[in-house]
Amino acid sequence: MRDTSLLQLALGIMPPWSVTRSDFDAAARRLDIQIDFATGSRFACPACGAPDCPAHDTDQMTWRHLNFFQHQAYLHARVPRVRCTKCGVKKVSVPWARPDSGFTLLFEALLMSLVSAMPVNAVARLAGEQDTRLWRVIHHYVERARARADLSGVTRVAIDETAARRGHNYITLFVDIDKARVVYATEGKDAATVAAFADDLAAHRGDPDAIAEVCIDMSPGFIKGVADSLPKAAVTFDKFHAVKEAVDQVRRTERKVHKLLAGTRYIWLRNPANLSDRQRAILDSLPLRYLKTGRAYQIRLAFQELYEQPTTKDGEAFLKRWYFWATHSRLPPIVEAAHTVKRHWDGILRWFDSRIANGLIEGINSLVQAAKAKARGYRSIRNLKAIVYLLTGKLDLELPV
Ligand SMILES: [Zn+2]
Repeated sequence: MRDTSLLQLALGIMPPWSVTRSDFDAAARRLDIQIDFATGSRFACPACGAPDCPAHDTDQMTWRHLNFFQHQAYLHARVPRVRCTKCGVKKVSVPWARPDSGFTLLFEALLMSLVSAMPVNAVARLAGEQDTRLWRVIHHYVERARARADLSGVTRVAIDETAARRGHNYITLFVDIDKARVVYATEGKDAATVAAFADDLAAHRGDPDAIAEVCIDMSPGFIKGVADSLPKAAVTFDKFHAVKEAVDQVRRTERKVHKLLAGTRYIWLRNPANLSDRQRAILDSLPLRYLKTGRAYQIRLAFQELYEQPTTKDGEAFLKRWYFWATHSRLPPIVEAAHTVKRHWDGILRWFDSRIANGLIEGINSLVQAAKAKARGYRSIRNLKAIVYLLTGKLDLELPV
């Protein structure tokens, strides 16, 4: 068998295309394969599909293909522009590559598998390609898959924001709780963010009015956004920074009079079970009962027991007792946090009905952290969002095989 015939079979090249030549350069570690069509061949119009259009002129193109053993491989062909009686002059599409891509479909499929498993800049190094070329491929497949995504069954959504860059620029994720997938990611963390999600949902066969449960933190932007854009949703509040932050405020004030509290900040932000041995020893040595910070800490720990109550009724009775205790604590930040709890009362107790598992949200969050690591050097929020969709969106990329 001649090498051109072998390559033609291996590449799956069909008439009117054929492999006409190959050049292997061991020193340059590359294989160049020439593909051509027979003079007088006719092609279908890429716009209307009309068959038998004659070639008008050609455009010489090159595509990077899967490596040939350890050598880089390139396909070359002159791609005809056809003259269609209806559409005019149009460039035909070749079966081995997307229009305007410098990679073959199989090479793109390999790149997409790699970027699902390792950071994009590592794939760029491995492939010997500029990462900007890789990002173009990623955006193409992710956007195409997202355009096809069917969100018709989505009824329970968790909304969570994550910092895109240290300290600035948030992106907000909308998680389909039942399928454990990120269905929407967008910049910002306010009411408009939720409105954008509702629009996107409607554009993907979903229905904002079908969203029955939403899990959010207590941010006023999300609360307003859900009320405006997801009007049928019952709200569950999932994160209570308010009580934790109150403990920190008590400590900051008390530290000025109690030297004992120097260097203890992080102890009060954690649960006893999560403390290091050294922190635990410090905590045990402090006269908690006589420290305002100690009392505030105990009130915070007690608040968490809410979630151990078996029923809504028990939960509500517990929360009432906690509220009474907190509002009579004579610790102003704790009293204020208790009032915050009071204002969000129904959404806090809603947890007993919705039982939206924090574990799921944490699971998604750890995936998003992994996505950030894989998007390393991502340069733009658009790139970050693409990787988030790729890793957490459960999209069908329909990669060529
Ligand atoms: Zn046409």
